[in-house]
Amino acid sequence: MKICSVVFQLFVVLCVFQGKSRNFTGICPSTWNPLVYLDYNNFWRTMDKMGKEIPPDAPWDAPHAEEWDKMTMKELINKICWTKAVRDFATVFVNVNVTSEPHEVSALWFLWYVRQCGGTSRIFSITNGGQERKFKGGSGQISEKIMERLKGRVKLERPVISIDQTGDNVLVETLNHEIYEGKYVISAIPPILTTKIHYKPELPPKRNQLIQRLPMGSVIKCMMYYREAFWRRKGYCGSFIIEDEESPIGITIDDTKPDGTFPAIMGFILTRKAVKLAHLSKEERKKKICEAYAKALGMKEALQPVHYEEKNWTMEQYSGGCYTAYFPPGIMHSYGRIIRQPVDRIYFAGTETASQWSGYMEGAVQAGERAAREVLHSMGKISKSEIWMPEPESKDVPARPFTTTFWERNLPSAPGLLCLLSCTLCLTSVAAAGLFICKKGLVARN
Ligand SMILES: Cc1cc2nc3c(=O)[nH]c(=O)nc-3n(C[C@H](O)[C@H](O)[C@H](O)COP(=O)(O)OP(=O)(O)OC[C@H]3O[C@@H](n4cnc5c(N)ncnc54)[C@H](O)[C@@H]3O)c2cc1C
Repeated sequence: MKICSVVFQLFVVLCVFQGKSRNFTGICPSTWNPLVYLDYNNFWRTMDKMGKEIPPDAPWDAPHAEEWDKMTMKELINKICWTKAVRDFATVFVNVNVTSEPHEVSALWFLWYVRQCGGTSRIFSITNGGQERKFKGGSGQISEKIMERLKGRVKLERPVISIDQTGDNVLVETLNHEIYEGKYVISAIPPILTTKIHYKPELPPKRNQLIQRLPMGSVIKCMMYYREAFWRRKGYCGSFIIEDEESPIGITIDDTKPDGTFPAIMGFILTRKAVKLAHLSKEERKKKICEAYAKALGMKEALQPVHYEEKNWTMEQYSGGCYTAYFPPGIMHSYGRIIRQPVDRIYFAGTETASQWSGYMEGAVQAGERAAREVLHSMGKISKSEIWMPEPESKDVPARPFTTTFWERNLPSAPGLLCLLSCTLCLTSVAAAGLFICKKGLVARN
């Protein structure tokens, strides 16, 4: 299987904000306004600083876990961000990364989520970031190739409906009433979907409660195909962040095949918009999306697609939504540590249980390997210290460090600058008044 990089570096990323299109520099839109610039800088810096306090494998143990978990991301954004421009952009940042709204998610959970992906720059960048590479032929091949190797042992279309641990072996029953028997079970489905399974004996109370409290995000994935990648003519890479409330799409990526065939823009209808626009027909969504692209790019060609495909993940019975589960406020601190605690002979994998790139395919692999090693440990085949093995760094695509400039590290926040200016103004006025008084001889000199 080959991995190729998303076309990006040579082209310009667009941000459409308050109806105007702007180029992107780094991970935020360029701005002429120094206060907005300081506010962006302070947002990223504060998010990363808070994130560093949170242990990726045990966010519930962070020094401020309880306090931050009681707060929504909306409350945190309102605390950190001073300008509307940055508050709005921070909202899109949450929407894009976790397909949910800032008022829905715990600040502790979101800070952890960004941290365990390597920080704000790593999670949001394409080049040298979370979205840099894709699989030639699609990532579905991973499951297909594993299935080939397992030679008929993978059973499809058999949802599990019950797990019975009362006997010597664990019995697993599927919807078509087949029974499978084994010494252990690894459950690798999103936590909330495990509520559809009947357990014998019943799950411990905390696990039973946790799985009712982790909803899935909402997203509709939309692929718009064109005769040519016309956006490249203007120097655009096909990635835009669209903040306009009227636009169905929040973020796009050029999804043209590496050999230049099938020019396409992939866009996500995110969270509140996925819910709001679900009742429209496919044709109506397509029209709205094309209009949004034409407006963002200032190019009428966007109105003439040759084909359109979409997938509404919120209606998938066996996903419940996408990309991953989110933690509403108050859950991570009280229930989080239960997420990968085995229940007798049931072990838990799935991307939600990962401690690195949770929410991504990478996290699903880490979680699966860790759960398999937990079973090996329980069988006495490996020691406890071998359960958590660090993931080796990719040789093909090593993650290069992100560096920050002196100014990014040390510039004041927007209110900090205003405070500094008013103090300076105050001191200057006092000094000027003092000078004036002295000159007028109102104060006797010694
Ligand atoms: C639109 C979209 C875009 C994404 N983009 C990216 C990306 O760019 N990069 C990235 O790394 N990740 C991306 N992700 C996330 C990635 O797909 C997930 O993190 C990953 O698939 C999680 O793997 P998993 O094995 O934990 O769970 P899943 O892939 O959800 O697998 C769970 C499986 O369990 C099955 N199941 C459910 N209930 C039962 C039951 N009762 N019995 C038996 N089986 C059951 C389901 O059918 C499913 O096959 C994206 C996800 C979506 C939806």
